[in-house]
Amino acid sequence: MPDDCIFCRIVAGELPSAKLAEDERTYSFLDINPWTRGHALVIPKAHSKNLYEISDEDLAATVTAAARLARDMRAKLACDGVNLLNSCEPAAWQTVFHFHMHVIPRYDDDPLRLPGAPSQAEPAELAAIAEELTHA
Ligand code: 5GP
Ligand code: ZN
Repeated sequence: MPDDCIFCRIVAGELPSAKLAEDERTYSFLDINPWTRGHALVIPKAHSKNLYEISDEDLAATVTAAARLARDMRAKLACDGVNLLNSCEPAAWQTVFHFHMHVIPRYDDDPLRLPGAPSQAEPAELAAIAEELTHA
């Protein structure tokens, strides 16, 4: 484990956290700067930097734990929906470099809004991108 990884230190109990759940591979706790009431993070216990590096087994366990927590939140927080979010690399807003899934309960009256708006693509452009990715 990297000495300077705050999430590894949380898993090891060296830093405090508001723990929600734990299993063989994952650890779930509340985000210290929540976007909404109940905003949580689910992480693999084993360090991996991000989506590009995590093992399939840890990814599956983390997503499964996040989904379980999301369903639990619906029952216990009476939220109206949920966002699962992962950020990979600074370009995608990653700030802590230990893989994590955000589980963000959503409420009809919460203030969160998407930061941008999509624009419609031409069918030819979609076809070209699909070709590029299919052959990647
Ligand atoms: P990212 O920006 O990498 O997707 O998300 C990192 C998240 O970790 C942020 O939402 C931030 O509030 C949270 N975070 C950073 N440091 C700590 C900490 O020491 N404890 C907890 N519980 N959350 C943290
Ligand atoms: Zn770590």
